[in-house]
Amino acid sequence: MPPFGAIEAADFLPAFAAALAADRADIEAVRDNPAEPSFENTILGLERSGAALDRVCNVFFNLTGADTNDALRAIEREIAPVLSRHGSAMYLDDALFARIDGLARRIDELGLDAESRRLLERYHRMFRRQGAGLPDEVRTRLASIGERLAVLGTRFTQNVLADEQDFVLPLESEADFAGLPDDLRAAARQAAQDRGLPGHVITLARSSIEPFLQYAARRDLRHRAFQAWTSRGERGGATDNREVVAETVKLRAERARLLGYPTFAHYRLDDTMAKTPEAAQELLRAVWGPARDLARREAEALQRLADRDAAGPLAPWDWRHYAEQVRHERFSIDAAAVKPYFALSGMIEAAFSCASRLFGLSFTERPDLPRYHPDVRAWEVTGPDGGLVGIFLGDYFARPSKRSGAWMSSFRRQRRLDGGARPIVVNVMNFAEGSGDVPTLLSFDDARTLFHEFGHALHGLLSDVTYPALAGTSVPRDFVEFPSQLFEHWLEQPEILSRFARHYQTGAPIPDDIVERLLSSRKFNQGFATVEYVSSALVDLEFHLLPSADTIDVAAFERRTLESIGMPEAITMRHRTPHFQHVFGGDGYSAAYYSYMWSEVLDADGFAAFEEAGDIFDPEVAERLRRFVYAAGDLRDPKDAYTAFRGRLPSPEALLRQRGLAPTQSQSGL
Ligand SMILES: [Zn+2]
Repeated sequence: MPPFGAIEAADFLPAFAAALAADRADIEAVRDNPAEPSFENTILGLERSGAALDRVCNVFFNLTGADTNDALRAIEREIAPVLSRHGSAMYLDDALFARIDGLARRIDELGLDAESRRLLERYHRMFRRQGAGLPDEVRTRLASIGERLAVLGTRFTQNVLADEQDFVLPLESEADFAGLPDDLRAAARQAAQDRGLPGHVITLARSSIEPFLQYAARRDLRHRAFQAWTSRGERGGATDNREVVAETVKLRAERARLLGYPTFAHYRLDDTMAKTPEAAQELLRAVWGPARDLARREAEALQRLADRDAAGPLAPWDWRHYAEQVRHERFSIDAAAVKPYFALSGMIEAAFSCASRLFGLSFTERPDLPRYHPDVRAWEVTGPDGGLVGIFLGDYFARPSKRSGAWMSSFRRQRRLDGGARPIVVNVMNFAEGSGDVPTLLSFDDARTLFHEFGHALHGLLSDVTYPALAGTSVPRDFVEFPSQLFEHWLEQPEILSRFARHYQTGAPIPDDIVERLLSSRKFNQGFATVEYVSSALVDLEFHLLPSADTIDVAAFERRTLESIGMPEAITMRHRTPHFQHVFGGDGYSAAYYSYMWSEVLDADGFAAFEEAGDIFDPEVAERLRRFVYAAGDLRDPKDAYTAFRGRLPSPEALLRQRGLAPTQSQSGL
């Protein structure tokens, strides 16, 4: 364990300086080695380099996420550009790349085992994707494109934020509050106070506007708020993002061309499980038809409610409102009746129990180990043979020093190389801590988050590879959510819920009718949810499939794309282009918004393997899952890994069932 108690903020800058110098020396030694390049003296040299830098980075960045302070924040601002320059210097070192490139060219003659071969390919690809080996003038152009794209991404995000802050919907007369529950009224009061305004306001934060659209009875107000929400980044003037998008799309296309790809989408997906934009489109289109059919049936039901209000044809600002009425009627669950069954301690036990039955793991709490905050709990994880698997840290409670959200991270990655190391993995959550006689109680969504992150943790803990670059979660973006989303399925099994979801006072298991409602409400309104998601993912891909885009009318392009797929009139994209932050506020999900659904296909199809075996802990299926997925890191291409686990490639049928999109007898044709 890192010696947390002995580390002070003032230690980090000197530690970074020493670690960066050591890494530089390691890399120069590889580059300047007079011996003929070999896998050992080049690729393994790089794989062994930077051990100290890894240690410093792992401790530092885990702390800045989970337990930061002003001193750490100042160091963070100072060190970020230094680390970025350090990385670029390595990737653009011609002599170093020449060694790697030479090895990659004669990879078949090197007599490498499969894992070593994969490691060489991965290094070669990482360098090539950064522009290594290209002529100087091309690399100069790539660098200036990169800088310009960073500026555009920041501007895009700031424009969206400005448009969000610029608009409020004041609720003035009592009639403006029609339909709003008390908590939303209180939140509107708070929002006004936060802005120094009198009275009550609705804002464009998703947490304000979405409940408003659900509950507000006043159609004219819903309309106004919805227009403001969906026109963020498209209101003309200084914060309009249409030109920002046009320039971004154009520069991304140019960058891809310079790197030898036909379009940016091809460049982006080359490094994923889907591999090609066509494969991603094929999945989205397979889901699109059934989703649109279901949305049409949902719209008919909602129209009947709208007719009662004489509201006219169902519009996008009506959908959430009438859907909420249906949801309330059919699935209404009182959160206060659910929470007492979901004590944090019971859910940790449930997650450990599933890991034990699937993979033979045991968890022993080790309060004696060093931790970075008193709330953090530490467990020693052992395997079926009693051997050490790794250390699992759970950091569950919200506090001001922690950023929001939930995540898994590592203090140390697994490796077999050079005597080996067992992983140290952490799950960080933001649950509200219990107080007095009431233990920490979770919502069902919180419990699902706990299982999700624990799935990522198992991916880190069970890792069993030689090279740390290939360990654990170092897999493509459209594959990394598979082990985590898959693990959520066990929480949803009645046999797990009845055993672990017990009332914290009486010990009684959760009643069947609550379970029934929790599970069936997941399929509600999925036509709408799928249509708004898939349309966004398709538009994202279409923009990035343009081979060049010197002049593009962003709004017209979006409109034409939606027309071509037959977008239902009463539904809007989940993220319209001028405020699609996943895609244009940086590179995170550019041409990759499809990844969420790609992973969902895998988790639905993957869990079906257990259902087909007739046992959700079937030992043979679990062993294949461990060997080819949770333990395998990036040893294989994700398609090969999945096929080895499942015996075939994934198909979207299970996802269609999971979302309630599978054909039913009421449908005709097809
Ligand atoms: Zn995740």
